[in-house]
Amino acid sequence: MKVLITDRGHGTSYTFDIVEVEIADTCQKCGGPRGTPTRNRYCEDGEFYYVDNWTNPCGHVDRYLDVLREAKALKGEIHA
Ligand SMILES: [Zn+2]
Repeated sequence: MKVLITDRGHGTSYTFDIVEVEIADTCQKCGGPRGTPTRNRYCEDGEFYYVDNWTNPCGHVDRYLDVLREAKALKGEIHA
């Protein structure tokens, strides 16, 4: 599934990007189905942006950092 998420970079270098990534539609921890993403509007420092949130029926939480890593691994940019 394709989702919009925030990429805040790593370590001390603060970045803030909205990226669309492709990830599996199954939970990476248990293999169960992921929840359906819903698009939500947020405001930060006066800037409005949209990102997707989803709740997995299995109860596992997908952190954006993990989702970014999964998306990069799927594209072959890094090894999971
Ligand atoms: Zn799960």
